[in-house]
Amino acid sequence: MNAQPLSATPVTEGAVCNTHPDRAALGTCARCGTFYCSEDRELVHGKIYCGTCAVLPEVDYLEAFRLKYWGKRDAWAWLVGLGAVANILLGGITVAVGAAESLLFGLFLLAAGVVGACFWLGMPWARLGFLFVPVGSIIVGAATEGAVAIARGVLPLAIAICIYNDTRNKLFFKEPVPAETLQKAWDLYMNNTMARAGFYLGILGVLVPGVGVIAIICSVIGLRRVNPNAHPPIGRKGQAITGIILGCISLVGWVAMMTAFSRAMGD
Ligand SMILES: [Zn+2]
Ligand SMILES: [Zn+2]
Repeated sequence: MNAQPLSATPVTEGAVCNTHPDRAALGTCARCGTFYCSEDRELVHGKIYCGTCAVLPEVDYLEAFRLKYWGKRDAWAWLVGLGAVANILLGGITVAVGAAESLLFGLFLLAAGVVGACFWLGMPWARLGFLFVPVGSIIVGAATEGAVAIARGVLPLAIAICIYNDTRNKLFFKEPVPAETLQKAWDLYMNNTMARAGFYLGILGVLVPGVGVIAIICSVIGLRRVNPNAHPPIGRKGQAITGIILGCISLVGWVAMMTAFSRAMGD
């Protein structure tokens, strides 16, 4: 326990803990302001809270984020699971009715399917094992087709490495993830999703007429939510502003284009 906490608020002489009246207060909770003692104070993201506040999702938002996705199948797991079904079906057919020279390929598909199925089930060995599926496909392919198979296998291998390093996927496999990595994933998935939606809708609005209006609305709501001093801090100011600008440009552009088009039709 930290003996001289960084953000402890000095307390008046004689103040006692809110939960333990027989103990001297050491400071006040950063969220609710009640007195805490050495027994029930918690240091979370550099601030000190009382025992009640420390476990709130908005205080320990990274822990809340971790628990939300702990053991929960992510999009990659579903994709790998679907691929496993396809591999097992295709592998089974190849082994059953295929020519003798495609037996190795069929067996490989079956093995890849089993690894994928175990990956979908969240079996710990399958997380690393899945990396060997593209490696195996390169080896099997190289044996039958030569260098072409190596070139074809590079992209699947790169994707498999991406999946292996993906934070949400690590959480699905209940792998320990350091706080900085959790913070990055939190920023990506949770931080001001309204501003992020506004930004992407702003890009879409350039291509699809009318979407710019939704982009502006989302971006304005997102921009109003930005608060770097909140806990957790809400960011994406730049994306919100870009979303508004893109939304406006696309609206003006589409109106100008439609006006020009109707003029041309009228002539
Ligand atoms: Zn509190
Ligand atoms: Zn106490």
